[in-house]
Amino acid sequence: MSQSTIERPIVPSPVPALVSHRTVTVLVRGQRVTVDDPDWCVLGDHHAPVNSLEDLIHEGEPFSINVPTLDGVAPALVTRMTSWPFARTEADRLPYLAIDIAGGDGGDLQRRTAVDELLDGLDQYTARLRSECSQLAAV
Ligand SMILES: [Zn+2]
Repeated sequence: MSQSTIERPIVPSPVPALVSHRTVTVLVRGQRVTVDDPDWCVLGDHHAPVNSLEDLIHEGEPFSINVPTLDGVAPALVTRMTSWPFARTEADRLPYLAIDIAGGDGGDLQRRTAVDELLDGLDQYTARLRSECSQLAAV
């Protein structure tokens, strides 16, 4: 009994998109290149010119917790959906949530209303984070 092996060409698997129905034209070393642009990307015509496609980034709308301060509020945990669709490895091409954990001033949480504001902000932040995380789970 002989076994045969069917050889198939190696085809790079496409990056699982979080819904992509549009394209955008970007400048790569001054040359106009049209690429898929996920619906969640807010850069549109403002994608920065790049030296190679590996440098192309997609960014979603940022969201954050507004932490009450003495002068008003300061954004913290600024988060946005991000992807590098032409990164070298498939794992690096997957969309992820980029979270800035260092930004903003310290909060003034001594006033009860400030704590309530922070708790409301955390509730909104948690809901948004769960929503965006569920999109990642679908990838
Ligand atoms: Zn984009």
